[in-house]
Parts: sequence; C-alpha cells; structure tokens
Amino acid sequence: MSDIVVVGSVNIDLTTHLPRWPQVGETVTATDTRVGLGGKGANQAVAAARLGAKVSLIGAVGADGFGQQVTALLAEANLSLALETRAEDATGMAFIDVGPDGDNIIRLAPGANAALTPEIILRHAPLIARSKVLLLQNEIPLAASLQAAQIARQHGVTVIMDPAPAPQPMWAADTLAQFDILTPNAHEAALITGHLPGGLPEGEMTATALTTLGPRGAIVTLGAQGVAWQIGEAQGRKAAPKVNAVDAVGAGDCFNGTLAVFLAEGAAPQQAIEMAVDAAALATTRQGAAAAAPTLSDLLAFRLERAAPPLTTH
Ligand code: ADP
Repeated sequence: MSDIVVVGSVNIDLTTHLPRWPQVGETVTATDTRVGLGGKGANQAVAAARLGAKVSLIGAVGADGFGQQVTALLAEANLSLALETRAEDATGMAFIDVGPDGDNIIRLAPGANAALTPEIILRHAPLIARSKVLLLQNEIPLAASLQAAQIARQHGVTVIMDPAPAPQPMWAADTLAQFDILTPNAHEAALITGHLPGGLPEGEMTATALTTLGPRGAIVTLGAQGVAWQIGEAQGRKAAPKVNAVDAVGAGDCFNGTLAVFLAEGAAPQQAIEMAVDAAALATTRQGAAAAAPTLSDLLAFRLERAAPPLTTH
C-alpha cells in the first residue's frame, strides 16, 4: 500500500550550459553537459519519497536506453514503480539549454508520456484507491489525469493537481472541480482567474476566487514571496524563508511532493503548507530538480535552525 500515488510524467533531462546563445543555423559548443531524471511526475514522486513516504509512480517510458536509465534512477529513490513500457514511443525528453546568465530554453518531447490513457490508469485503480493522496500535474493527457482523479474521489483519496505547465487553453470550471486542491503558480492562477496576483494579499484573494470554481482548496505559489491559500473555510498566507537560492527549478515540484506527504500523514492543511514552504526553500539552495529535494532530517534540521534564537557574539 502506498500513502501517495503520483500519476505523471517521467523524462530524461539533457542539460547543456552554453557560453552564449547560438544564432539560428549556428553551432555553439557547450561548457557543461548533464543527463538526469526529470519530468514533473518523477520529480514530485522523488521529493515525496525523500521525506520517507511510501510513494508509487504511475507513468510511461519508451522501450529504449533512456527508459532503462530513468527507471534505474527512480528505483534508487525508493519508489514503487508502475511504469508502462511503450515499444512505439521514445522516453520523454527535455532538452534544457542554460544560457550565460542562467536563463534557459527548454524543448520538451513528451514521447511515451503522451501515450498514457484512461485505460492504462484503470489497470492501476486498486493502487490509487488504497492510497491517501493522489498527486497530478499537466505533463500527461488530461483524460488520464481525470480518470485517476475519478478513481481517487470515489475512494475518498485527496486529489492534488498542480496545473503546470499551464494548460492552453486553461481548463474550464467543470474540469477544475475534479480536484480537491489546486496548486498553481502566479502565472497559472492568472490564466484561470484573469488576474496576476502581485503579492501574498492578492494571492489570498486569488486562492479564494479559485475555490469558487469548484476545487475545495487552492494554494497559489508566489516564488520567493511564499504561498497564499484557501482550503475549505480556512485561508492564510505563508512567507517563504529567506535563503540563498541558487536554482529555483523544481521548487514547485518539491512543494507539491512535500504537501502530499504531510496531508497523507493527517496534518492540518496549514501545517502541511508550512512544511512544504520550508522544503521548497531548502530545495532552491541546491542545484537540480529531483536531486535538490530535502530528506526529512534535512527539513527538520532547517526548521530547527530557523526557530533557534539568533546567536549573539560580543
Ligand atoms: P514554480 O516553481 O512551480 O513556478 P514557484 O516559483 O511559485 O513555483 O515556487 C514554488 C514555491 O517554492 C514557492 O511558493 C516558494 O514557497 C518556494 N520558492 C521558490 N523560489 C524561492 C526562493 N527564491 N526562496 C524561497 N522559496 C522559494
């Protein structure tokens, strides 16, 4: 039995660092190249597993070398895997180019992720039904996510949907209503409500507006500012701790994975959100996405450090 089931994307991330951006038709030699596990589904599953939760990942990879590589990396992360191997498709690939100023361009080839169907999800219905939290994102076909959500809701399993990358066009209210808790970033929330929240007070209004569309709860993530939320009757905001952020890629994935873990443990939403805000901040102090997510002892040590009175020296 898993506490958390993630239904989502699995990619191989092929990252190059470039000394300058090439012109069309030009070749620029990379200064650094990395090959690693990626995909929002995989990243969120790894983040949850690092905290010690029992996590299963339902997804699809190609019958190729990258598929074997990502499967091995996921197995190392202590996940239960329910991966479909698709002979007809390549493993999902993210080609990530990091420019001289740290900005990036990503080309995404969904490959096997796009082949996840409601029928495949139905085969794993017992796994979803016996879990406590189902975690979804928008890198697989919506029909597959909705099938998973339906199974979950029939069995009283909490459904968290991170609508990232932003659906184009944005989902209508009847789709949003299939999820218990939505976790958009500011940009994604703006596509739903038509208004970009500038700070935490506005974020709180946005979260409230989102809940009027159907989901029981909404948590709007606002980067270095933190999060604002409305879940049932309760609402609030939580400023992110000030950290020396070196890489914010995957902060949102770490937030969602951590939120799922503490909700599955039965924590009140506010407590789960506080843990997730701290875990995501800690993840920004390290390079990488899945690799940056903290363990439970890292997270507890970070919280303890911050609660400690400042050291006074004379
Ligand atoms: P996404 O990564 O999905 O675009 P955000 O940028 O809003 O989402 O980041 C998700 C969460 O990660 C934020 O709400 C915040 O809690 C945390 N976070 C992101 N950037 C920072 C930062 N520079 N310092 C501290 N926490 C951060």
